[in-house]
Amino acid sequence: MDNCATPSNNNRNLQASDYNLRILHVVDMASQLGTEAIDGFSRLDDPLESFVDALLEDKRQHPSLEPLAEVFRAVSYPFEDWQDKREYERETLAENASTANAQEFFGFGVQLGSPVRDYHSHTSYSCSWGFYNTVWVYAESLDDAWKLGMAWSEQKRQNALKAAGFPLMCSGCGSTMTSTELEDAKQKDPKLLSCCPERRMEVPHA
Ligand SMILES: [Zn+2]
Repeated sequence: MDNCATPSNNNRNLQASDYNLRILHVVDMASQLGTEAIDGFSRLDDPLESFVDALLEDKRQHPSLEPLAEVFRAVSYPFEDWQDKREYERETLAENASTANAQEFFGFGVQLGSPVRDYHSHTSYSCSWGFYNTVWVYAESLDDAWKLGMAWSEQKRQNALKAAGFPLMCSGCGSTMTSTELEDAKQKDPKLLSCCPERRMEVPHA
């Protein structure tokens, strides 16, 4: 039989192996909002509920969620007008879904997973799919969501290496700051861009 995979699916297959990364759930907002923008949210089922929960969380799981989360966190009328808390939440959700539809948030909510890696050296680790991290991201296409997933997995890898005492090092300047730490530092100092113009984190030479 001829191979039938498209180039993009083939890439994803190889990258999944490199990055230890899986797509766990996909919520297609275009068809979701197109069919149930107003009242169907009252019967949230699993992946959709999990995605909406991620949007409503105080602590964002991923920066890509922020524009859509802003819509879903909006409250336009006070709770006092409502007797029933569930009814109130449902109405708020329906109204916010309607706003999301009008603003054409027609991309994909994608939940990705990656096993927790336990590093024994810079290059060897153990992990299993019995114990894994997850994240919801939002992007205009599945491919774009996958790219966010790869960057997220790489961030987890750098953090796990550093936590195990095997930090990666910037090939330009020797900085061992992980990309998560760099993001935090950028939050505190908006003028900070990176340690080097072309930051490349590598296994330090012995
Ligand atoms: Zn550097």
